[in-house]
Amino acid sequence: MTASYIETENNQNSANSRYIMTLGSHCSLQVLKGAKDEGFETLLICEEKRLSLYKRFKFIDKLIVLDNFQNLLDGDFQKKLVDEYNPILIPHGTLISSIPMDDLEKIKIPIFGNKWILRWESDRSLKQRLMNESLLPAPQQILSKNDIDGLCIVKLHGAAGGKGYFLVTDKKSFEEQSQKLVEDGIIDSENQLFIQKYANGVPVYLQFFYSPIENELELLGIDRRYETDIDAIGRIPAKIQMSSDLQPSYTVIGNIPIVLRESLLPEVYSMGERFVSAASKLVPPGIPGPFCIEGVYDNNANFISFEFSARIVAGTNLYVSGSPYSDLLYNTPVSMGRRIAMEVKKAINLSKLGLILT
Ligand code: AMP
Repeated sequence: MTASYIETENNQNSANSRYIMTLGSHCSLQVLKGAKDEGFETLLICEEKRLSLYKRFKFIDKLIVLDNFQNLLDGDFQKKLVDEYNPILIPHGTLISSIPMDDLEKIKIPIFGNKWILRWESDRSLKQRLMNESLLPAPQQILSKNDIDGLCIVKLHGAAGGKGYFLVTDKKSFEEQSQKLVEDGIIDSENQLFIQKYANGVPVYLQFFYSPIENELELLGIDRRYETDIDAIGRIPAKIQMSSDLQPSYTVIGNIPIVLRESLLPEVYSMGERFVSAASKLVPPGIPGPFCIEGVYDNNANFISFEFSARIVAGTNLYVSGSPYSDLLYNTPVSMGRRIAMEVKKAINLSKLGLILT
């Protein structure tokens, strides 16, 4: 393993000697900016190809360059990080997709939030169990291709951000498209695919933060994703769509802010609270910190949920300076990254780190 150390210019001593650390991707800028605003030192693990990007940001105190994020698993390297920086690792989507779950659970660096629940996010059947326990209305799962009757969405297991998802309407269209994935070497067999009824509606992602210290749930922001090519197809006239072989796909390119009708907020909080109590029942210690419930509102303004994320989501990057919802709760700009740092600071001051780290 090669770990070379590069320090940025901005490394005066901060108010708090504990480092907030994350991997250079996904929402790392927002997380470290928030940590710096709360007086923490900040540490970024990054790959060589991204170094020139991250060196631009003076709120990053230390940059450590690894050939590959998997090198974080080296025991000596972890010990060195713990000895020198006493870090708290903030998990995000890139950490989950680059480090196998068994290894992540064994990491010696304290992780913010519940590291055990990350497995429930990645495994579709555990995920469904937690969603059922939370009484989140979900689209029906189709267990056999013979039962496909009407519009369904087909997902690859563990696909990052909807990449490779496709739509089918019957067994024949499922077989045609899955055969292509087998031929392209993307899957070994169609049994690896997960089929779900397509929930027609407008997509909405609800960004929550749960504080176990205050026993309080906060809604801090709402967004929708901007996805190719599903958000591009509407730019092409229907007649031309019909005569071309356009396939909708769901690769996330960015995020768009949303505010909901105020009358929808009571049910939003209620879903968040049900998720918090289901998580603490099924996966102790539950869900300290950020999480996101993802779904669509249908034409009766009912929410149908297809996913959750049990950690900070990249859609929170919209609200580096706070959101319409965080502004209602705080008089200063509070991003999700900053909210995490506020909770860490409070836990340190009250000697309650055990409530928020695993
Ligand atoms: P996911 O990886 O589950 O977050 O899904 C990625 C994208 O696929 C979402 O942003 C939605 O646009 C779409 N999607 C996933 N599941 C469904 C569903 N059951 N019905 C409609 N759209 C879905």
